Amino acid sequence: MTLEVLLAKKRGFCSGVKRAIRIVEESLDDAQKDERTTPLYVLNEIVHNKVVVQELKKKGVSFITQKELVNLKPQESLVFSAHGVSPSVRQTAKDAKLRIIDATCPLVDFVHKSARQHLEQGFQIVYIGHANHDEVEGVLGEGEIHLVESISDVDELIQSDKISATAPVVWLSQTTLSVSDTQNIVEHLRRNLPNLVEPQSECICRATQERQDAARTLAKEVGEQGAIIVVGSKNSSNTQRLADLTRSLGVDTIQIDVVTELDLAQIKKYQRIGITSGASVPDYIVDEVLATLLPL
Ligand code: SF4
Repeated sequence: MTLEVLLAKKRGFCSGVKRAIRIVEESLDDAQKDERTTPLYVLNEIVHNKVVVQELKKKGVSFITQKELVNLKPQESLVFSAHGVSPSVRQTAKDAKLRIIDATCPLVDFVHKSARQHLEQGFQIVYIGHANHDEVEGVLGEGEIHLVESISDVDELIQSDKISATAPVVWLSQTTLSVSDTQNIVEHLRRNLPNLVEPQSECICRATQERQDAARTLAKEVGEQGAIIVVGSKNSSNTQRLADLTRSLGVDTIQIDVVTELDLAQIKKYQRIGITSGASVPDYIVDEVLATLLPL
């Protein structure tokens, strides 16, 4: 019995990830041409993918945490990742006279701008996102913004005195959430906050939406007797949402970073396998998975 392998129509690198990696690679080239002895620093992971980070480390990039910022010297180069940073981190880097290279995805930047504008106009902001994610930490740093992760968080917020149901309030969200989970939370906000205003445009980015739509279609094609391999790192929000989605549709879901993590004996139990990948996953990893599965 030959294994049938299907690929999601939309998968892999999004424009924001491609741009961020290109910025780091170009900055590294520039630094090396200048014969600079200092390394190129990147604050946090440039994108949430272990393989991408390892490859850049091998080329000479140093990844640092926020706490390590104080160790950098004036004029050293620091890249902000695709997930963006809070205004206070930006200010710390400026005060330290670092050479800032900003690889924040323009769509993440748009949410920051929208948060700032609404705060200036006196709006209360409810922000749907996952606590401790780099992008979320950055946006929350824009001011008094109420983070909710679930419908019960919304109820808790409304029952508290942190938000006024009679004052204007706008909702915003992390760019890489589950489209359907976010819709449910927004519906709940609409029912409970009569002065709720919609954001000027979608916060969940098109790349995230397209990859979730394609994963939904793939799950239907594969069926409940098949399985889906989601390629991507566990700390990648959009990858995690793809895996959540295919699991919620009743399809066995296997999440891996690299092809060597595949259990081929497990794969052989299925007649049909679908493959998708998160927005921070290089295509060649999916090609390696495909090359491993096709002879089975
Ligand atoms: S997933 Fe969307 S928001 Fe995140 S880097 Fe890609 S395009 Fe930008």
